[in-house]
Amino acid sequence: MDGDQKRVVVIGAGIAGVACATELHRAGIPVQVRERGRVTGGRMASRRFDGRPADLGAAYFTVSDPDFAEVVRGWEAAGLAREWTDTFVAYSAQGRREVPGPMRWAAPRGLRSLVEYLAADLPVVVDRLVLDVERGPYVEGEPCAAVVLAIPGPQAALLLDPALATATAAVEAQRWAPTLSGVLRFPTRSWPDFRGAFVNDHPLLSLVCDDGDRRGDHAPVLVAHTTPGFAAGHLAQPTGAGAALEQAVRDLLGLPERAEHVHVHRWTYATPTVPGGAGTYYLDDDGIGLAGDAFGKPRVQTAWRSGHDLGRALADRLRP
Ligand SMILES: Cc1cc2nc3c(=O)[nH]c(=O)nc-3n(C[C@H](O)[C@H](O)[C@H](O)COP(=O)(O)OP(=O)(O)OC[C@H]3O[C@@H](n4cnc5c(N)ncnc54)[C@H](O)[C@@H]3O)c2cc1C
Repeated sequence: MDGDQKRVVVIGAGIAGVACATELHRAGIPVQVRERGRVTGGRMASRRFDGRPADLGAAYFTVSDPDFAEVVRGWEAAGLAREWTDTFVAYSAQGRREVPGPMRWAAPRGLRSLVEYLAADLPVVVDRLVLDVERGPYVEGEPCAAVVLAIPGPQAALLLDPALATATAAVEAQRWAPTLSGVLRFPTRSWPDFRGAFVNDHPLLSLVCDDGDRRGDHAPVLVAHTTPGFAAGHLAQPTGAGAALEQAVRDLLGLPERAEHVHVHRWTYATPTVPGGAGTYYLDDDGIGLAGDAFGKPRVQTAWRSGHDLGRALADRLRP
C-alpha cells in the first residue's frame, strides 16, 4: 500500500472489476482485486478440453462504444481478438433463415484471455472468496477507501451488511436468470454451414455456436446455451441435463453422430433481467460501488463501460 493511504478493494475479476481497477491503478490509487475463482474472466469464461479452449460463458462480444473500441483495438493488436461474423442463422417454428447483425468478435484463445490481458499489471488475488463487507467501509475487518462489488446482485446481497441500506436496496432490486452451457465435442464436423444460431420458441435451446469456427481451428465442437426455464429445473444437477441438451442440438441441426463428450456448465446468475438502476454504475456516500452488466444491456461492452466509469468516478473522489 502507498504510505497510509487506504486502498480500494474490488470484489470480482470479471471484465467490470478489472476495468474499474485499471482506472484506479492508472490514477495512482492503491487497489486490490479479489476473485473467488482460480482465474480471472468471470462470465467471459473459457475452459480447456484436451488442451483446447472452449467458451463456456459469453459467446462473443459486439462493439459500438468508441472507448470500448479502443480496448478492442488493443486486443486485436495483441493477436487476442478478431472479427468473427455479422451473420447468424435463426431457427424458429417457421424454419431456418439468415439474420444479418452487428459484427461479432471472438477470441482464438478464448474470451477469458482478453480479461487476463487487461489484468496483467493489476494486483489480483485469486482463490479469494469475499464473505463480508461492512459499514466503514470494511472488507472482512480491513478498513478500505472504498469497496467495489463487481459481481451479480444476488451474490452482492450475501456480502453486504444490511446497515449499508442503500447499497443493499440497490442489489436486492436486481433480478437474474440462469443458463446452462453445454460443450459438445463430436467425432467430425457434420453440421450444416452456420456460425452461430439463435434458437427461438424452443423449450430447451436459446443459442448454438460453432466453437471451431469461432476459434478458427475448425475443431468439431459446438457450444449450446439453454433457456432460463430449462436451466432453472437443472441447477441442482446440471450434468444430468447433458443427454437432453445433446439430443436437442442433434435434432435441431439434424446431426447423425452422437457427441463423444458433453460438458455442462451451470450459470446460476447468467443474465440480469431487472437492471441495477439508472446510469452506468452505482456509488454511494458509504463508499460502496456496484458495477457490471446489470447497468445496461447484459453484454461484455456494458460491463466494461460500467467498471471503467465507476473507476473514473472513484479516482476523482479519492485523488489526494
Ligand atoms: C451463458 C452466457 C452467455 C453470454 N453471452 C454473451 C454474448 O454473446 N455477448 C455478450 O456481450 N455478453 C454475453 N454474456 C454476458 C457477459 O458474459 C457479461 O455481461 C460479462 O462477462 C459480465 O462481466 P462482469 O464483470 O459484470 O461479471 P462477471 O463476469 O460475472 O464477474 C464477476 C466475478 O466476480 C467473482 N465473484 C463473485 N462473487 C464473489 C465473491 N464473493 N468474492 C470474490 N469474487 C466473487 C466471480 O467469480 C466472477 O469472476 C453472456 C453471459 C453468459 C453467462
